Amino acid sequence: MSKFNFWNTEIMYLKKVGPKRADLLLKEAKIRTFGDLLHYFPRKYIDRSRIYRVRELTGDLPYATLVGKVGNLKLVKGKFGPARLTADFTDGTGILELIWFKGADWVRENLKEGQEISIFGSPKFFGHRVQMAHPEIDAKDEKDSVNNLKIVPFYPGTEKLNKAGLDSRGIRTLLAALLEQGQSDLFDNLSPTLIRENQLMSRAEALVNIHFPKDFLTLEQATRRLKFEEFFFFQLMLAERKAVTQPARKSFPFETVGHYFNTFYTEHLPFELTNAQKRVLKEVRRDLGRPFQMNRLVQGDVGCGKTMVAFMTCLIARDNGYQSAIMAPTEILAEQHFSSFKKYAGPLGLRVAYLVGGQKKSERKQYLDGLKNGTFDIAVGTHALIVDSVEFKNLGLSIVDEQHKFGVMQRQALWDKGKMGPVTLDDGTEIMVRHYPHNMVMTATPIPRTLGMTVYGDLDVSVIDELPPGRSPILTAVRAEPQRLEVFGFIRKEIEKGRQVYVVYPLIEESDKLDYLAATEGFESLCRTFPRPQYQVGMVHGRMPPEEKEAEMARFKKGEIHILVSTTVIEVGVDVPNASIMVIENAEKFGLSQLHQLRGRVGRGAHQAYCILMVGNKQSEDARVRLGAMVKTQDGFKIAEIDLKLRGPGDFLGTRQSGLPEFRLANIVEDGGVLNQARAAAFKFREEGNMDDPENQLMKAYFQHYLAEQGGTGGVA
Ligand code: ADP
Ligand code: MG
Repeated sequence: MSKFNFWNTEIMYLKKVGPKRADLLLKEAKIRTFGDLLHYFPRKYIDRSRIYRVRELTGDLPYATLVGKVGNLKLVKGKFGPARLTADFTDGTGILELIWFKGADWVRENLKEGQEISIFGSPKFFGHRVQMAHPEIDAKDEKDSVNNLKIVPFYPGTEKLNKAGLDSRGIRTLLAALLEQGQSDLFDNLSPTLIRENQLMSRAEALVNIHFPKDFLTLEQATRRLKFEEFFFFQLMLAERKAVTQPARKSFPFETVGHYFNTFYTEHLPFELTNAQKRVLKEVRRDLGRPFQMNRLVQGDVGCGKTMVAFMTCLIARDNGYQSAIMAPTEILAEQHFSSFKKYAGPLGLRVAYLVGGQKKSERKQYLDGLKNGTFDIAVGTHALIVDSVEFKNLGLSIVDEQHKFGVMQRQALWDKGKMGPVTLDDGTEIMVRHYPHNMVMTATPIPRTLGMTVYGDLDVSVIDELPPGRSPILTAVRAEPQRLEVFGFIRKEIEKGRQVYVVYPLIEESDKLDYLAATEGFESLCRTFPRPQYQVGMVHGRMPPEEKEAEMARFKKGEIHILVSTTVIEVGVDVPNASIMVIENAEKFGLSQLHQLRGRVGRGAHQAYCILMVGNKQSEDARVRLGAMVKTQDGFKIAEIDLKLRGPGDFLGTRQSGLPEFRLANIVEDGGVLNQARAAAFKFREEGNMDDPENQLMKAYFQHYLAEQGGTGGVA
């Protein structure tokens, strides 16, 4: 394809490169082609338009550029560590000490005493001395027009590249030649319409300015344009995949919102819905009205009120004559939903069935019959809902709570309980085809919006980003061993007030046994501090049979246990409004999302709730950030965002195989704004645009090329 000849030309054929340097560029910087070099972006820029004098430096300046001379290069033997190199930098107004802890050889070879240079870095004050470690250095050379810039880009070089003359200066020289030679080849890969609608800079201008910025404003626009482009094609690929792998499945359109929904809304709703709940219900209603299966994830922090949204969605199903099913991962949760649903549905004259393992035969039979003949309207249960013996008269809606606890197959198993429905063909004949129940999945694991959009490629996402009013924040504090007695005293007071307490021990993955020991020791020590019969201390851990675990949880729920000790097996979503304290032992060992989830177990009632993070005496820097974030905020999305920044998308999603491509310039964590815009544009284009329009020909060619390149990255979930 001729359009790509320039882009695909081997870098070897660029002036001043040749086979040897080409080899090095490939090995050290993954630059194989002209295109790769154009996309080898600077990692930072030095602003030479504002030159500071040494005398002007203050401790507040994050970065500064200075022009002057170096002298007095010295290799100083380290007392403990390796040697470091120091030099004095002067500009006639004072002395700045330059220092290198590594790469001294290269600096010594390339830095000539007395030569005028620009340096860039962050000045640090030590008493009266001012120091700059590992400054960026650029020798001044008036004759070298390529490198005589106001804003100087620096590239992520390596020592080998530096040695071969391919330091930032060398790369700049290559780029200048390439940009000059390729002027007519920098075609735009976005259509004029997209460029106009999204107010983007042209690609040619962006590529020139990312490497040789005219000024900082232009640089910003160039950066935005190139990030947009990266996200756009990625999102277009997702849109494409969604359309191909998730063809709209037939479903029954729920056209009316009628008697049951309206009666409940006007007469029985126990509280005013939050705006977020209302918005999500609206989004759901829009989906349900279509003759295609809804596939919507409802995401919202613990306690935001997902259950009510689920229930009201069931009412819409009922208003259209359909049954609903809601599946929860554990019996405790199912039980909890069953009792709320019964409470809400009773006054409406609707009947709720309950299906879990180990039920009495007669009880189960009554529910099974009722679902089959339609006398029951809603089914609540665990995996027991998806076994073969369960049949529905007309299941129109399936809801899965805490979806991350289920596998994809389990999530979809309820769909098999849907039924056939009529479809009219173009020629007017009617045939019967499989119809799928509408599908809602709910999760309390907050995934930052930006990431959610990408990882849930096949789901539409609704977010309940608001808690019901009147919740007072959970007071969170970090405490260490010396304060343990105080903590116990505090617990005692809360128990006297009638409250209950969780104490959680970390799960150390390599050693189930150690966890168990730590928790058991904790349990025993708590039993001594809080003796029977005045206090009841209970315990759940991963080695217990599920029935025992649930029985113990149930005792806690009923208030028969004051303090519940556990490893991290406390069930998600369990609602014990009377529990007011969450103590997390060795809190530094927990991940941020996990800490947040655990804290969400308390603060569900009318009482002031507390989260006490007990820490050992050693903490990593990351642990400190995590604990700090917990103390500072309770917003699950903010926490998720911090967590994502700490861990990166791969780890955050629990797998390196997150299916995210490596972005060259864009950053999925930090560039949410551009990502949103690019995603909207890509999905809009997929729906309304036409790749075969003349104005889209170059974009089409580029996209095909992009898809071929991405082919190896595997599927996005
Ligand atoms: P989650 O989203 O974690 O599943 P729940 O649905 O269990 O949260 O709701 C938590 C608590 O908040 C429940 O006791 C519920 O009755 C209550 N609740 C839900 N929505 C509202 C609201 N709009 N106003 C007041 N309380 C609400
Ligand atoms: Mg819930």
